[in-house]
This record gives sequence, structure tokens and C-alpha cells, in this order.
Amino acid sequence: MKKRILIINTGGTLSSVTSEHGLSPGLSSGEILEELRMVSRNLTLETEDFCSLDSANIFPEDWAALAAKIGQIYGNYDGIVIIHGTDTLAYTASMLSFMLQNVPLPVVLTGSQLSISHPVADAMENCRCAIHMAAGGCAGVFAAFNRKVMLGCRTSKIRSMSFDAFDSANYPNVAEISALGLHIRKELLPEKKGVFRVQPDYSDKIFLLKLYPGIDPSILSLLQAQGYKGVYIEGFGLGGMPFLKHDFASAVRDAVDNGMTVLAGSQCPYEGSNLSVYETGLLALRGGVLQAYDMTAEAAVTKLMWVLGQTEKPEEIRDYFQTNLVREVTIPQTD
Ligand code: ASP
Repeated sequence: MKKRILIINTGGTLSSVTSEHGLSPGLSSGEILEELRMVSRNLTLETEDFCSLDSANIFPEDWAALAAKIGQIYGNYDGIVIIHGTDTLAYTASMLSFMLQNVPLPVVLTGSQLSISHPVADAMENCRCAIHMAAGGCAGVFAAFNRKVMLGCRTSKIRSMSFDAFDSANYPNVAEISALGLHIRKELLPEKKGVFRVQPDYSDKIFLLKLYPGIDPSILSLLQAQGYKGVYIEGFGLGGMPFLKHDFASAVRDAVDNGMTVLAGSQCPYEGSNLSVYETGLLALRGGVLQAYDMTAEAAVTKLMWVLGQTEKPEEIRDYFQTNLVREVTIPQTD
């Protein structure tokens, strides 16, 4: 029997058409399907329109609705492909990795830099890769782009125009297309740790803060006064924060003492943070910050949202950040 793959369309460049307001999503999933039949003759493809949006307009409530939809229909399919704008694809892929832990089938996000109706587009190639990963029987949340497949929680958009727009940060690609066909490295896939249950709860009271020399530390108390529960701070290098003039490390300690979850990572996209190396990190660590280590910014932000949706207890929050849930983080052995 042919494998059944569901293609959920959310919009983005892949489905875009030119309008008087600029490029915007316009093709329906049915129109996309007409194009895709060529790359999937041995499969049964079904399509569904979830929304038709530039991914700048995809919000956390859409992630939760997508996760809930997958929870309802997954039993009818061998795999699911989600067509998504590339701009926030990595956020959606990261959050779905948390909301759909132990998902029993492949869920593969893809998009393109040019519309599928464009004669030289990357769209068909990306869809081909996503559809065949979705049919490959390896469970998990993935992103397929430019002939490679990445864990959803390791995906980051690093180029705005080239076809090689995404990278698997601090983790190898889990599959690549070459002369061997689609070669999946099974040892890199997340293990199933329990039963599948959609966990769509999240907190939207979180903030992403990138440090720069001279940043005013009072931003943290302002955030708290506005009701923010968590902040992900992208520090310098290995995660350092100033403690002399503009004493950010003390402001962090005060925020933690007042009940704020402070997650700290690095502004560098590669190799991650380790706050125990320099005084600029250790002071913050002693003040109670949690470490993002080598998580992408997209994974750190969405994990923070998701964890704060699961619990408000500081010791449980700490536990979540000491746990590698879906291979989103490498936690050093010594910690
Ligand atoms: N602005 C588009 C989007 O994210 C870009 C793309 O899909 O490549 O929806």
C-alpha cells in the first residue's frame, strides 16, 4: 500500500504570488499539490490549508493549534509535511519539537526562497526532500532545506537570500541527499522516551534580550514590572555579562530573587555558552541564571516559553533546563 503523507500549508514564499502589495502567500495547498505530484509518484499525498501567511505573522497560538491538529490526525498518516515561510520556520520547528515530544511519525517543515511557481525555484527540491523524509519512517520534528534534513530544534535561519538558508547549529544534519539517495543517520535522531501526548501550553510572558556594551541593567526590573516571567539573555562570547559600571550581573541576581527565570546563552551562533569560565559569567551563575549552553536562540526562546507553560516551580524549571529533552542542547558532563 502506498504511504500516506499529509501536507499542511501555512504560507510563506513557497506558496507566494506577486501582488500590488509585494510578494505574499496566495497559492492554495491544492495548487501546490498539482506541482508536487511529479516528485512523489509512489506516495499518496493529501493536502490541507492551515493558514496562508507570511511567517512573520505566525504566532505562538498558531504553534499550539498546529500541534493540536497533528495530535488529532497523526494516526491517519505515515508522515506530515508542513509548508512554512522561512523567516520564522526555525521557531515553529523548535516549538513543535517541545510540544510534540515522542511524536510517533515524521513531521517535516519546509519552505523555499522562491515561489514554487518560479521556473528556477528551490521549492520543488525542498518539498521532494521533505516528502521523502516524511515517508522515511523516522519519527521526530525536522526541517528539510537545500537537500539536507535537520532536527527541528537545531535549525536556524542564517542566510536571507541563498538557497542554503538554514544551518543545523552545533549538531550534524540528520539526513542528506547525495548519490546514496536520502541517507538518514538514525543514531542522530531523538529517542522515544515515553508516550506521545501533545503538550501545547506555553507562556508568552518571556523576553529575548541581546546585550550590548552600555546596556542599562534596569531593563530587567522594567520587564518584571510589566509581568514578564522569563528572559533569555544573549550574553557576550561564552555568555558573559558586565559587572562593573552598568552592573548587569547584580540586576540578574535581583531579578532571579524576585522570581524571574533568567536563561543565559551566547550571542555567537556556534559552539554555545559556558558561564563557569569567566568572572563575567560566574557572577551571573551564582546569581541563579540557567544556562542555554549550545541551544540556538530559537530553541532557547521556545524552550523558555514552553517550560514556563508547564510549571512555575523554580526547581522544576531548573530541572527542565538541565535536561536534554529532544537533543536541543548539549549539557557538559561536569554540570
Ligand atoms: N517572508 C517569507 C516568510 O517567512 C520568507 C520565506 O518564506 O522565505 O513567510
